[in-house]
Amino acid sequence: MSENVQTQERDFKAAVKDGLALKCPNCSKGPLLYKYLKVHDSCSVCNQDLSCQRADDGPAYLTILFVAHLVGFLAHILISYTALSNIALFLALSTVATILALIILPRMKGMIIAIQWAKRMNGF
Ligand SMILES: [Zn+2]
Repeated sequence: MSENVQTQERDFKAAVKDGLALKCPNCSKGPLLYKYLKVHDSCSVCNQDLSCQRADDGPAYLTILFVAHLVGFLAHILISYTALSNIALFLALSTVATILALIILPRMKGMIIAIQWAKRMNGF
């Protein structure tokens, strides 16, 4: 007796890895996003429907969580071990925070979409 396709378990770790790499969680080949944060309606390689994803504010919350902790730790180090002026500290930390946020945000979105796909949430 064959198992129903809808109840087959999907590889969670592989899906998260694909999501972080901004690849389709189903085939690991097709691009997940375009124009930085727009999600393709379907995968160009395997036709997986991606329009049912609901990442919403999750990627932003996770990005803030990571960036704030990293920049807070960096601020502690810079303040404790360097003699940078306040303006130099502000410029260095805000530059690092901006760059980190721009790098991390699409990866968090890819990861959340991949988790939704792996757990068959929202119609996946
Ligand atoms: Zn695909």
